[in-house]
Amino acid sequence: MTFINGTQFINTAGDAVHGHGGSMIKVGGYYYWFGENTYPNGPFASIPVYRSTDLHTWEFRNSALSLTSAPELRNAGVWRPRVIYNARTQQYVLFVRKENYPSPMTENKAASIQALKFGARMYFPSKVTTVDTSGERLGISLFGGIEILARAVIIATGAHYRSLPIARWGEFENAGIYYACTELEVRSCAGREVAVVGGANSAGQAALFLSSRGCTVDLVVRGEDIGARMSSYLVNRIVSDPMISVRASTEITALEGDTSLESVRMTNSVTGEEAVKPCRGLFCFIGADPASGWLYGDCSVDGNGFIRTDAHIPTEDLGQHWQNLGRGPLPFETSIPGVFAAGDVRHGSIKRAAAAVGEGASAVSSVHQVVGVRL
Ligand SMILES: Cc1cc2nc3c(=O)[nH]c(=O)nc-3n(C[C@H](O)[C@H](O)[C@H](O)COP(=O)(O)OP(=O)(O)OC[C@H]3O[C@@H](n4cnc5c(N)ncnc54)[C@H](O)[C@@H]3O)c2cc1C
Repeated sequence: MTFINGTQFINTAGDAVHGHGGSMIKVGGYYYWFGENTYPNGPFASIPVYRSTDLHTWEFRNSALSLTSAPELRNAGVWRPRVIYNARTQQYVLFVRKENYPSPMTENKAASIQALKFGARMYFPSKVTTVDTSGERLGISLFGGIEILARAVIIATGAHYRSLPIARWGEFENAGIYYACTELEVRSCAGREVAVVGGANSAGQAALFLSSRGCTVDLVVRGEDIGARMSSYLVNRIVSDPMISVRASTEITALEGDTSLESVRMTNSVTGEEAVKPCRGLFCFIGADPASGWLYGDCSVDGNGFIRTDAHIPTEDLGQHWQNLGRGPLPFETSIPGVFAAGDVRHGSIKRAAAAVGEGASAVSSVHQVVGVRL
């Protein structure tokens, strides 16, 4: 039978239905139809199975797949069921196309809808290339030539966490390599062998936290002295902790594992000695680079390029224009009046998601003061 594209299907009660992506198989005297049931806007509900002898009268038999039999498919997109018979195993096999369907209302989506409701214009994806501070209004240039004039700007361009330039690094990110060391990350490797890379306080704190969770920790430090960049109170605790081995003058030179990290190769840069160590978690604390290069020399930044705000701005970086304004920088305001910074790109930020969101919200309060909005 040929169906013309766009034919309106009806169900057995005569109601119009949306026919989409199902398939059929004939077994003995029966035709079996495998359909796609979704909730409004697409999330998976079930793969229903109907049976007919004449392709006219259909009887519902069961669901081949449902949220009861496969609860992990909640909010997934499950499309185009196909069933074939495998004569060798004498089993029927169901194939579906599975997509991680976005939930109907994510936080992102809710925030975007709210912003649009209040009149925000979005440029996405779009890259800021400069902020021109010479005019009465701040001039923001976007890649592609779009210019925006604004009375205030909040910079929240984040930072890139540094990684090690070794093969398979990307493969094991989120499969054994971590840039944070909280309960969440430690849960997957508690009581196992792990390595922490880095010689500053964040690495030391991570090593102690991991050891407190029963991990056997190799603390891998490129320099020859662990005390060079780490506070002495941490060094003292680390060297007396039997679960932590400090590997000074050492670098990680290879990663091994199948689908997740299983071991690392460490090379001593002085002796050349190599050792392969079991490793279920590699915690990398070798710093981050702020995405602030596009600001060029206009704004006060620290030695690593993180943007200084409010009390962190040295007096010598506050020029004559501040005196003319008759005020100092507001919370989260940079050395450029009306330009604010929040989140990972900011000097002194704690590099956590909740902190970044909180800083952004607080910066908005300062923007209101600058543009004279009554709260
Ligand atoms: C692998 C990893 C795991 C993490 N896990 C956790 C965790 O479990 N818990 C936690 O609290 N924190 C975690 N963090 C830290 C957390 O992600 C950050 O602290 C947070 O995302 C910072 O938010 P932000 O808005 O400042 O920057 P980002 O989230 O980095 O956002 C900056 C945005 O600005 C864009 N951008 C950069 N330059 C430009 C430009 N010139 N023009 C336009 N756009 C630009 C970037 O593309 C990016 O979209 C993790 C970070 C990493 C890398």
